[in-house]
Amino acid sequence: MARNCKDTKCSFCGRSQKVAKKILKAPGKDLYICDVCISECNSVLRSALAEDGIEWDYGMWQDRQSFQEPFTMTPHEIREKLDEYIIGQEDAKKALSVAIYNHNKRLKDTTQKIKKSNILLAGPSGSGKTLLAQTVAKILNVPFTIVDATSYTQSGYVGEDVESILTRLMNAAGGDIASAERGIIYIDEFDKIARKSQENVSITRDVSGEGVQQALLKIIEGAEVNIPLASGRKNPMGGNIPFNTSNVLFICGGAFEGAFETTEVRSKPIGFNKSEEPVSDNEKPRISTELLKKYGIIPELIGRLPVLIQLNELTEEDLIHIMCDVKDSIIEEYKELFSMDGIQLSFTSDALYEIAHTAIERKTGARGLRAILEETMLDLMYDIPSEGNITSCIITKETLYTKKAKLNYRLAV
Ligand code: ADP
Repeated sequence: MARNCKDTKCSFCGRSQKVAKKILKAPGKDLYICDVCISECNSVLRSALAEDGIEWDYGMWQDRQSFQEPFTMTPHEIREKLDEYIIGQEDAKKALSVAIYNHNKRLKDTTQKIKKSNILLAGPSGSGKTLLAQTVAKILNVPFTIVDATSYTQSGYVGEDVESILTRLMNAAGGDIASAERGIIYIDEFDKIARKSQENVSITRDVSGEGVQQALLKIIEGAEVNIPLASGRKNPMGGNIPFNTSNVLFICGGAFEGAFETTEVRSKPIGFNKSEEPVSDNEKPRISTELLKKYGIIPELIGRLPVLIQLNELTEEDLIHIMCDVKDSIIEEYKELFSMDGIQLSFTSDALYEIAHTAIERKTGARGLRAILEETMLDLMYDIPSEGNITSCIITKETLYTKKAKLNYRLAV
């Protein structure tokens, strides 16, 4: 490959071999670069990446390579992987495993016969929608980005243009367009861009709702979109690059609040229990194209989201599993923090149940668990390190309210 060359000059700055410490030759070409120019290129590249919001990382180019590893998992294997991270949501994991498997087939299909299976995840806040999308990207080993649908507006209005979503994916791919074009975009708060009302359609322009849906439609269905080479960068060439979204997998997530509770949106109220008793998840209306239309999602966009997946509210048992049994669980994290001070931390089952119950009452799902644990543990974490002779700390149901735990002390000798 490149080697040291005698009596040559750097093709960039003209330094001769006598001045430069090292001059390298381009393979197969009469082109040379000296050590000084290489060093300058490094710093130019570093600041250009910083302007794009990409952190300089020497492993970056290796990561690029790994994005291209062949994917060979079966739906069962995908499901097993999802099980490692996601508690409950059995139907969702099964449906996603099949969707990912088929999406991968589509990526290999040169005939373009297989249509893109973009996914819509509907379910309460903190039930694992984002986590599922993130885990899918991890399994497929593709670049991944999360965007919030409410930050975008129809082109020409105040707010971000939807095209910038692609720039974010490009950044997640470390600037590698080929990888980015096979990446996954998770559009959070998708329900918040629903058309406000039927009247809105004819009377005013619904900039934040239908306008954004129209703009999203273009990139979700698969199009060649020109994106700026770098967001915010003063690109001297003024260049854009074409980004083809045909193979980008879009996963949209939203709570669709009210859609599953009211009778109004029930497509078939046959057998509906009219008493005040809360209906179980199985009895509630499931996500459907009809329900989405009623909720204010435009039919064209619904047509581009063929895989509709419903997530259920997590139960107390699910939340306890999430706290204790997933990889790097929160409880393990606290145990580790305490063990670094030589203290064995444990939770009674009553305490775990009460934490889970509080999260359900606050309607925060699993997302609220950490906040509840922080509130419970703050005083203890503040006081215990000063005491020095504590050997174990037991968190009980009462600790949630009194902030006091059962402490065992080292016997004085
Ligand atoms: P959503 O997108 O549905 O609002 P998230 O996926 O962002 O919820 O969940 C927030 C956090 O709660 C996750 O990062 C994860 O730690 C935890 N979590 C939520 N649902 C689950 C689940 N089903 N299994 C394991 N952890 C979960």
